[in-house]
Amino acid sequence: MRIVYTDNNATTRVLPEVLEEMLPYFSDQYGNPSSMHSFGGNVGKKIDEAREKTASIINADASEIVFTSCGTESDNAAIMAALELNPDKKHIVTSSVEHPAVRNLCRFLEEKKGYRVTFVPVDSKGNLDMDMLHTSMSRDTAVISLMWANNETGVIFPVEEVSRKAREKGILFHTDAVQAAGKIPMDVKNNPGIDMLSLSGHKIHAPKGVAALYVKKGIKFPPFMKGGHQEKGRRGGTENTTSIIGLGRACELALGHLQDMDTRIRGLRDRLQSELLSMIPASSVNGDIDRRLPNTLSIGFNAIEGESILLLMDQAGICASSGSACTSGSLDPSHVLMAMKVPFESAHGTIRFSLSTDTSSEDIDYIIEKMPPIVQRLRDMSPFWKK
Ligand code: PLP
Repeated sequence: MRIVYTDNNATTRVLPEVLEEMLPYFSDQYGNPSSMHSFGGNVGKKIDEAREKTASIINADASEIVFTSCGTESDNAAIMAALELNPDKKHIVTSSVEHPAVRNLCRFLEEKKGYRVTFVPVDSKGNLDMDMLHTSMSRDTAVISLMWANNETGVIFPVEEVSRKAREKGILFHTDAVQAAGKIPMDVKNNPGIDMLSLSGHKIHAPKGVAALYVKKGIKFPPFMKGGHQEKGRRGGTENTTSIIGLGRACELALGHLQDMDTRIRGLRDRLQSELLSMIPASSVNGDIDRRLPNTLSIGFNAIEGESILLLMDQAGICASSGSACTSGSLDPSHVLMAMKVPFESAHGTIRFSLSTDTSSEDIDYIIEKMPPIVQRLRDMSPFWKK
């Protein structure tokens, strides 16, 4: 059966070029990069090369990159480091639509560790309440952690502006750029207010279980993972050498694909959006259509359930995600759609399509052909639609 994969914000395919770069380091060149002998040292050199390439995706220096095990670890390490560096400050600023990697850590710190957390709200388009953000910054604020782009709606936050303000006020600023990476250009040299930035490999065609944290030169970084001297003492544990090598190659490729993402993929996403909106009545887009990642479309179909839509899409070989909080085992709309106050009837029937540079025009044609009858079939059975 044909598979059309439009769930790239969940994870991406490892590109053949990435796999090829990794393969020799599984079994031929398996040395420990910390070893004194050149057999291991050569692997260390390859990691240095991967560090350069990873740094280039955000225009950082290689020395500012710390490899970690996942985006979640990068986010946790950044926030915990900021708190450790500011032991007298007990306030954290974040948004109400962060990924659980930040959101649940902040909730834990609030509930169990006595921190005060401001979850800055968003409007119905998913844009930040900037007044509230500015008034929430205080002398007691240890860190501001704000995602660069939202994983569900693709809405882009004004990270450049907020990090500038944070810098003026002497507050450490971290951004979760896991979804922004490889989809929009990012430049930390042009944004000196960004102190820390998280990336994750599996969103940009590298393997799962490898990620990076950018730590700006001059920022002290108490390690989250305490152990050996690896990563210049910033993260203990023998390096995940093959995956790090894959991440470096994936970052290099992602930089080269940015133009395609901005033009061809944006065009495919826009065509998918306009065709679905025109062919399916009572459908609407979630999120600011003018400030969005080029690959993401979150669209709600009134009066039906996202999970039922996904099941029928699955039968047609189309992979996407729903807008429910399904990771928590609940069918309620996700915290992101709830924070945006998306009306219940469309939040429940929300589907997220997320494209990658792998997506073809034929893939989009196929989805456009299959979706209207799927939605109609479910609406024919829905008591809410008949009403
Ligand atoms: N942050 C965002 C915005 C994400 O979308 C994700 C993954 O979906 C993460 C963090 C966590 O990354 P990882 O799966 O590598 O832990």
